[in-house]
Amino acid sequence: MKEGKVTLVGAGPGDPELLTLKGKKAIESAEVVVYDRLVSPAILRLIPENAERINVGKEASHHTVPQDGINRILLEKALEGKKVVRLKGGDPFLFGRGGEELELLAENGVSFEEIPGITSAIAVPAYAGIPVTHRDFSSSLHIITGHQRAGKPLDIQFDALVRAKGTLIFLMGVSSLSEICQGLLEAGMEENTPAATIERGTTPFQRTTLATVSTLPEEAKKRKVKSPAIIIVGEVCNYSKEFDWFDHLPLKGKTVVVTRPKERAGTLSYRLRALGAEVVEYPCIETAPMIPCEEMEEAIAKIGEYSYLVFTSPAGVSALMEMLWRTGRDVRALGAISIASIGPGTDRELQKYGLRSDLIPDVYDSTHLGEMIALQKPEKPVLILRAKWGTDDLTNALQQGNVPYRDVRCYETRYTASNTDEIKTLLTEDTLVTFTSASTVKGFVAAMGEEADLSKVMGVCIGKQTEAEAKKHHLRTATAKKATMDALIETILEGVSLWN
Ligand code: SAH
Repeated sequence: MKEGKVTLVGAGPGDPELLTLKGKKAIESAEVVVYDRLVSPAILRLIPENAERINVGKEASHHTVPQDGINRILLEKALEGKKVVRLKGGDPFLFGRGGEELELLAENGVSFEEIPGITSAIAVPAYAGIPVTHRDFSSSLHIITGHQRAGKPLDIQFDALVRAKGTLIFLMGVSSLSEICQGLLEAGMEENTPAATIERGTTPFQRTTLATVSTLPEEAKKRKVKSPAIIIVGEVCNYSKEFDWFDHLPLKGKTVVVTRPKERAGTLSYRLRALGAEVVEYPCIETAPMIPCEEMEEAIAKIGEYSYLVFTSPAGVSALMEMLWRTGRDVRALGAISIASIGPGTDRELQKYGLRSDLIPDVYDSTHLGEMIALQKPEKPVLILRAKWGTDDLTNALQQGNVPYRDVRCYETRYTASNTDEIKTLLTEDTLVTFTSASTVKGFVAAMGEEADLSKVMGVCIGKQTEAEAKKHHLRTATAKKATMDALIETILEGVSLWN
């Protein structure tokens, strides 16, 4: 039997982009993933579909698995010969009980590895514009647990901490915030020393409460500060006033739903997150090549009879490549045919196979694509490879221009959305939903149910056809000036202060 292994992986403080490359690789090749509640959903999505997922920290039901239970799960799965990833918030070895989890494994001779993570203790202040050390103010950093064991007083050496004059970071300290500040003041800390709490740091919900060590407990109470939060005490806190870059990102506090198919959601989500948005990936459609597709096979076998291959989406390109691959061929089967694509996204998909588009219209829609082809006056017919339910815009434009064509349907769109209840809670004025095709609108509406009131939803649409579909269902709409991701994001940035 193959030997199992446990890899402790630090998932970072909240922003999924702060996972390390090594951590990502470990997750992507895991057979079992055991995770905590503070791990971001975007990181959990990296878990391979056929891997077993074990949530040991369900918050809502307080159904957490006790520590020795977790240790046993890790051991059992490793003894079954599995590659186990234990995914923990921040860094596993900083107040993460990572050490305890390794003990039982070591005793049983199971091999293990630890991949450090970016700790909240340093990254959360950083996202609030606070460097934890500064040559002028603080030459040491102390990371302290504020966790109080039931019925026991806090076990913190306040005298030593005040004497050291460094920056103090308390984790797990929200419920003992008053005792912590009191302890520091009694040990002689200057009462105007800046202090702050930072909640849900590095996520779109990050919130900083800046005060002094004497006023922080009251401020925090007023603002209902909740865990997870760090407490930071020291002169460096003042930098937050000037350097809080994250709080000023343009989409901070906005929730944006991305409805694109899973495999294409990546870049849009990444860019929206980098602008401060809370991104919820809610793939409403998936595209699947029609296999086998005899019509496409037959047309490609006679490729010399056509002047252009025409693609209206990246999915058409993937369907063609999949067919070639499955039938034992590759791009060489396409010979020297010219290629027309609807826009840069489709062109990028072609580039993956070493191909280039000879034609891309100025306006990225089917009508302009058809008109552009007509301008070339091709003598031989063009071969269109597109979706089962494509509209007539392209073929109408070709007919107008007297271009002969063969229209082959080679992939279909399926509605995939699940977790509808979760999404329904997001259907408020504050949420934006991005639609990158009319079919994503249809998929979204199908998931919400025809009877759902969608009039509050701000649908940000990539083009006219998409907008028309959204209007049919009474969504509010804003439409990108061009059918590109850049223009879609631009539309969100321009509109975000106006909508609501
Ligand atoms: N190993 C983790 C810490 C685990 S202890 C790390 O290295 O970050 C859990 C505590 O970490 C929480 O109570 C809170 O104080 C802090 N914490 C974790 N994530 C946080 C976040 N996103 N924002 C603020 N504090 C966080």
